[in-house]
Amino acid sequence: MRRGITIGRTGKADRTRLKIGLTSPIKDQVSLRMKRTFFLLISVVISIPLFGQSILLVPDRIFDGENIHEGWGVVVEGRRISAVGPVSELKGDSRIDLPGSTLLPGFIEGHSHFLLHPYNETSWNDQVLKESRAERVARGTVHARETLWAGFTTVRDLGSEGAGYADVGLKIAIQKGVIPGPRMLVAGKAIVATGSYGPAGFDPDFEVPLGAEEADGVDDLIRVTRDQIGNGADLIKVYADYRWGPNGEAMPTFSIEELTLMSQTAASSGRPVVAHAGTAEGMRRAVLGGVETIEHGDGGTREVFKLMAERGVVFYPTLAAVESISSYSGWKKGVDPEPARITTKKKVMKVAIEEGVLIGMGGDVGVFSHGKNALEMELMVEYGMSPLQVLRSTTSLNAKTFHISDRVGSLKTGLTADLVAVMGKPDLDIKAVWNVGFVMKDGAVFRNDF
Ligand SMILES: [Zn+2]
Repeated sequence: MRRGITIGRTGKADRTRLKIGLTSPIKDQVSLRMKRTFFLLISVVISIPLFGQSILLVPDRIFDGENIHEGWGVVVEGRRISAVGPVSELKGDSRIDLPGSTLLPGFIEGHSHFLLHPYNETSWNDQVLKESRAERVARGTVHARETLWAGFTTVRDLGSEGAGYADVGLKIAIQKGVIPGPRMLVAGKAIVATGSYGPAGFDPDFEVPLGAEEADGVDDLIRVTRDQIGNGADLIKVYADYRWGPNGEAMPTFSIEELTLMSQTAASSGRPVVAHAGTAEGMRRAVLGGVETIEHGDGGTREVFKLMAERGVVFYPTLAAVESISSYSGWKKGVDPEPARITTKKKVMKVAIEEGVLIGMGGDVGVFSHGKNALEMELMVEYGMSPLQVLRSTTSLNAKTFHISDRVGSLKTGLTADLVAVMGKPDLDIKAVWNVGFVMKDGAVFRNDF
């Protein structure tokens, strides 16, 4: 037997038709919402894969991480995918029908913060300064469950924002089956240049907890990078710029030499460095300093995007965070004039696309509600990408970028059985990704509304 949450489970044999107490097929969003509420009330029901037994999953069509195949299905055996192809050529000991759906690789969120919740609920400063570690972790467990429920079976969590290594603990709790959630790649504390990060603006006589760890110069950066790795960071996140200019504007922080040093130190342990960067100069330094991904990139110029394309650095534009923050300050989309920051972001996306930069899916979720990760996918289309490109970004491209494509991100024989079924055709209308009806992680059914 494998790990699994078993509350409410009544028998182990009939894994294929295990339900969450509701039996009708998906009809609309409303019924999904009702089921979600019901799910939250009764906690979680997960079936447990039976070794030696194969399950044939039969949707209308599949997206294999690259392309759509009509009439194809997937066979799962234990934790792994054992076959992918036309349903007529596939066999399984049991069968799960997913009528009207497209079956895809489990979605991969490229930029989350499980230790944060939306800033319109509580400001970032107050979360870092006033919420106890216990409260933040308790919230994190809920965020993990909501994320998996939405079809995201893997997340790259980019910084605990003052919660130490609580992200490492969450990751381990999920791995051990203590709580349901996606597999996690975690950054831990993240690294900032001294004096650049927040919370800021307090009487200097008081020591105020920071949202990340300060380090500078050769010895310090090497030590802190290694220390974060030793404490469980899967990757190092640095802030290549931050809002510490004379008028509170974003300005570069680390030198190219410092960034290179962190990249080399992390690379020695087989880990990548990724950078928060919003200014063209911060982005340029980060790319030349060897980072693998750039987060945000609001001030990206054609020159910088050319450099990123040349070096294969992947861009995470975090569109959903920008739109959410604008809405928190009162902007009503479709009613009010577009804020300058969004107009700029649209131009930046256009240039990045024109220059052939690889664009990953990662919304900076935590700034907005966990489980609403699909907002980023919707906006990526709105800002100029095709739905098919966005599906690739969220599955195979994210997997490749995070060095996990040998395990997840595609529907291929031998890969981990992380799967999500959505109603409709998300390659034609990206909004379909909101309508999740089935989630399997690691061969275990976490959600089945069919
Ligand atoms: Zn972030």
